[in-house]
Amino acid sequence: MDTIEILKDCGAFLEGHFLLSSGRHSGGYCQCAQLLRYPDRAAEVLAPVAQAVKGLYASKICGPAMGGIIVAYELARQLGCEAIFTERKDNIMCLRRGFTVGQGERILISEDVVTTGKSTMETVKVLEELGAVIVGVACIADRRAADCALTLPVFPAVKLNIESYEPDDCPLCREGRMPVVKPGSRGR
Ligand SMILES: [Zn+2]
Repeated sequence: MDTIEILKDCGAFLEGHFLLSSGRHSGGYCQCAQLLRYPDRAAEVLAPVAQAVKGLYASKICGPAMGGIIVAYELARQLGCEAIFTERKDNIMCLRRGFTVGQGERILISEDVVTTGKSTMETVKVLEELGAVIVGVACIADRRAADCALTLPVFPAVKLNIESYEPDDCPLCREGRMPVVKPGSRGR
């Protein structure tokens, strides 16, 4: 089974007619937590990513909470390095819980989905200020928009191109075959 088939099979990638939190409509929706609830399938999906980043020789993988934590843990397990995470305190991304990074230490960032790159860039900033060298970003799904500011190399398990539409301009609404639903409220 290829990666996209595994995501569909777990309910992590849904096809249909969705109302997104932005108010836009789309024909696809990605929820990586639905993959990560199956550790063995998450391991399978992330194995090629671990292979792709092996040569970066990161000593730690750092995933911003929540989405990046399990991805960091699984990749670190496969690569034999450490997994840490950044989190927001008073809405500011920071490294807590006694986690440290050394001067010049090579760190890989992990995410479940990269879309805007916002949480990734915040994590990069925190770690660079502590002297770390960020070697790249590993993720399950690369959904980067054209205006994504991320300049680091990205290593995804899958690249997803999910188009979204203004409700007035939605081809799925025009087709009229399926009512629009909020992801998670119906089906799986
Ligand atoms: Zn629609």
